[in-house]
Amino acid sequence: MDQMDFSAIRHRVKLLEDTGRSRLFENRDAVACPVCGQPFDQALVSRNDTEQLAPDAGLSLCLHRGTDRMVVFTHADDS
Ligand SMILES: [Zn+2]
Repeated sequence: MDQMDFSAIRHRVKLLEDTGRSRLFENRDAVACPVCGQPFDQALVSRNDTEQLAPDAGLSLCLHRGTDRMVVFTHADDS
């Protein structure tokens, strides 16, 4: 998948935080992660060049780099 369209799933996730250049969404509808196909917990959409993440132990991450933004999907290991 080289051109993921986040807007296709945007209406199914809830915006938690918006800093202007990055936005954090919560998945309350078991939307499938476009990277691995499993439902994700949160998605971070970022246009920043760098991003600091502080994952909990037992958390796994899927990354997708688009043309102008990075999307990070988080999964709890027991999901
Ligand atoms: Zn995933």
